[in-house]
Amino acid sequence: MSAPSSPSPPAGLLGRVFRYIDRHQDEFVQTLREWVAIESDSIQPVPRLRQELLRMMTLAADQLRCLGASVDSVDMGSQKLPDGDTLPMPPVLLAELGSDPQKPTVCFYGHVDVQPARQEDGWLTDPYTLTEVDGKLYGRGATDNKGPVLAWINAVSAFRALQEDMPVNVKFIVEGMEEAGSPALEELVRREKDRFFSSVDYIVISDNLWISPRKPALIYGTRGNSYFTVEVKCRDQDFHSGTFGGILNEPMADLVALLGSLVDASGRILVPGIYDHVAPVTDKEREAYEAIDLDLEEYRSSSRVEKFLFDTKVWPQSVGI
Ligand SMILES: [Zn+2]
Repeated sequence: MSAPSSPSPPAGLLGRVFRYIDRHQDEFVQTLREWVAIESDSIQPVPRLRQELLRMMTLAADQLRCLGASVDSVDMGSQKLPDGDTLPMPPVLLAELGSDPQKPTVCFYGHVDVQPARQEDGWLTDPYTLTEVDGKLYGRGATDNKGPVLAWINAVSAFRALQEDMPVNVKFIVEGMEEAGSPALEELVRREKDRFFSSVDYIVISDNLWISPRKPALIYGTRGNSYFTVEVKCRDQDFHSGTFGGILNEPMADLVALLGSLVDASGRILVPGIYDHVAPVTDKEREAYEAIDLDLEEYRSSSRVEKFLFDTKVWPQSVGI
């Protein structure tokens, strides 16, 4: 890949690590290519894809072992499907490297499963073939989240290869069902609270976006999802438009009106009381957002939308991540 390296690499230890990474870039990209080629789709419940997902977990475990980490591949049982069939759940990998009580311990979270992807969905290249276009690498999972998982592994491997003493102890938690809502992960995390996580000082969730193609970002808060279901029922047959039209609405019109009442034209949610539990943006945060280096025009064009519908501000909370 022809990405430019840093114009003036830092001196000392970091400089040596950066130079090692630059020298081994092709190798790192090749590993990413191998990871992207695995269709580790956790959404479609079909045996072939589940096998691919299990293969992906094995490959990730092997990569962690190559670092010299001890890897616990935690069996997560099986997934019961609505039709009564079951599929094996991919294991969650708990890996650790170093246990020096004098050093802080950093735990990296990542996932190696992906959403379904087909070229007919609008991909310009084959989703499972890592392809370089204009110095950027495209492939399913390249960003979300195989690339970032590998980036941490590569960083640690650089320290190891240079026989440099790591300044921190490192742990990894890598899962394979994130795209399917991480079933059972919370239970595992609670169970491991006093064991695997007891020595963890920092958690790094590298399952997020860069602020621009060349600029990584520190994410300190993310949005969640709340799912609701609304059902509008009518009588047991269609209304005759001539007899009832103008007096009674079909459920579709009622549904559209209901959904249209949820947000105003600026995207503000209109459900009464919903903001009562949302902490207001502080002046300090507002100040930080003013200085943030996010190019809205670049964001718009990379999102491939013609214009923003709402009054979009250059604030991260407006960026739906
Ligand atoms: Zn992700």
